[in-house]
Amino acid sequence: MKPSVCVIYTGGTIGMLPAVDGYRPAHGLRERIVAEIPRLSGAGMPRIEFVDFDQLIDSANAHPSHWNTIAKMIIDRYDLFAGFVVLHGTDTMAYTASALSFMLQGLGKPVIMTGSQIPLCEIRNDARDNLIASVLIAARGDIPEVCVCFGRYLLRGNRTVKANAFGLDAFDSPNCLPLADIGTGVRVHGERLLASPEKPMSLQMLGANVVTTLRLFPGISADATRNALDDPVRGAVLECYGAGTGPSEDDTLMAVFAHATERGVVIVAVTQCLTGSVTLETYAAGSALAQAGVIGGRDMTTEAALTKLRYLIDSGLAPAAVREMIARDLRGELTEER
Ligand code: ASP
Repeated sequence: MKPSVCVIYTGGTIGMLPAVDGYRPAHGLRERIVAEIPRLSGAGMPRIEFVDFDQLIDSANAHPSHWNTIAKMIIDRYDLFAGFVVLHGTDTMAYTASALSFMLQGLGKPVIMTGSQIPLCEIRNDARDNLIASVLIAARGDIPEVCVCFGRYLLRGNRTVKANAFGLDAFDSPNCLPLADIGTGVRVHGERLLASPEKPMSLQMLGANVVTTLRLFPGISADATRNALDDPVRGAVLECYGAGTGPSEDDTLMAVFAHATERGVVIVAVTQCLTGSVTLETYAAGSALAQAGVIGGRDMTTEAALTKLRYLIDSGLAPAAVREMIARDLRGELTEER
């Protein structure tokens, strides 16, 4: 029997049509795909079923409620398909991929996120190739993770960042090698994949807890930082310098971090650098952050750290347990110290 793939269409450039104010998401993508790529339903191809968001979005409008909707669409159909393709805008795809990687606990099938930089409706586009590659990879059924398939690479979803607003290789996973190279064929690096889960699949939806991000810069105001960490914030990703340093001689700012962590706000440090990892103890200017209660997030992206924080807080863990789990590798999102 042919494998089956479920394609979930949320919006994004891939299915957009031009309007007076610029490209907008448009329904009817399935029909446009059938017309443009008739061989997608031909011999040797998997059976494809489409399911659309009622209200398609430019992913700039994505919200955790959309992550919940995608996750629910997957779990409701989990046993029926070999794998899933999620068509999504590129602007916030790294956030959605990261969030889904945590929410879909015990995932044992491929969830392949893709989109395009040029819509399918344009004569020259990357939508066609990204879609076909994603469907073929999802149909294999043997990649038990949330991935981003874009251009020449299949990447671990919770390691991705949107790295290019112009080029067709829009995504990068700076601290994690590609899971597959896409060229004249698809070369999957089996040894880089996550192990198949031992527990059955379950879903943790996200709630209304508030998490935020803060980016350090020379001259950052302690008052503005205090406001940013005020109630109802429960977790924050702090984008630090280099290997994990900050303005340690600003006692007022360090006290702001210390008071926030004492109140139970979990603050996770990641690096502003494009690659590399945070080790707060490397410099005195980082140890001060650790003393103020900030935890090192190792080589997690901001997107992964933010969605992981929300996931852990929403699972009802106390701040001490969240702090402990944040530095642990849950879904391949960080490189643990060896
Ligand atoms: N603004 C679009 C979106 O994120 C960009 C894209 O899909 O490439 O939905």
